[in-house]
Amino acid sequence: TLKLETVSKRFGPITAVDGIDLAIERGEFFTLLGPSGSGKTTLLRIIAGLEPPDTGRVLIAGRDVTELPPYGRNIGMVFQNFLLFPHKTVAENIVFPLRMQRVDRSKRDERLRWIIKLMHLDGLEGRYPNELSGGQQQRVALARGLIAEPELLLLDEPLANLDRELRSEMEVEIRRYQKELQIPFIYVTHNQEEALTMSDRIAVMRNGRFEQIGAKVEIYTNPASAFVASFVGHAN
Ligand code: ATP
Repeated sequence: TLKLETVSKRFGPITAVDGIDLAIERGEFFTLLGPSGSGKTTLLRIIAGLEPPDTGRVLIAGRDVTELPPYGRNIGMVFQNFLLFPHKTVAENIVFPLRMQRVDRSKRDERLRWIIKLMHLDGLEGRYPNELSGGQQQRVALARGLIAEPELLLLDEPLANLDRELRSEMEVEIRRYQKELQIPFIYVTHNQEEALTMSDRIAVMRNGRFEQIGAKVEIYTNPASAFVASFVGHAN
């Protein structure tokens, strides 16, 4: 579904992403885990089309999208700083990607009803973002990321602004959406607990490379280096 071929990105003297190869399977919950500055966000931005790579290719559903803008890629995004439109209602916020794609009104309404139900947002359609709790706002952002039936969903620290209790609640919710929709989610975090709770597979990033990539249990029971062991070990 998603394939990266030797993707690299430099900023001046810094190599943020250093020759990454990756294949994401259908229905997989994949987490990029690593300390600040390891290149997680840059890699996600390259997949999203928000940052052009210096070298390499991005393929989605077998199609080379390296030169395409974000809206041509059929992906959903939920970023920590990807805010809701404050002057639009919940319903208007959620259907925005469908408007961009010029989907007709009856189809928009149908998709809206479906996602509202999936995400338990019933009754909130007419509210404005500042009339919602933090968790509700996050669910609206997720609904907006998913309504256009993307090929995959990218999430960059989407829970970073939530308190601890709400965060663990949302971890379960996000995992539930992923299971139900069966599209790959690519999740960026520096939080080991989050990675442990949600992922099928984890890549531990360091200096723009994958220090280790494998099934969650493999990363935790058989860390490939002292770096992985100490970074992952912080969860305990
Ligand atoms: P964090 O968890 O703090 O978001 P990260 O793992 O997502 O970190 P990136 O944001 O991808 O890391 O940054 C990787 C490296 O690239 C860092 O050294 C960062 O300073 C650098 N970098 C990222 N974006 C830019 C930019 N636009 N200009 C210059 N340097 C950048």
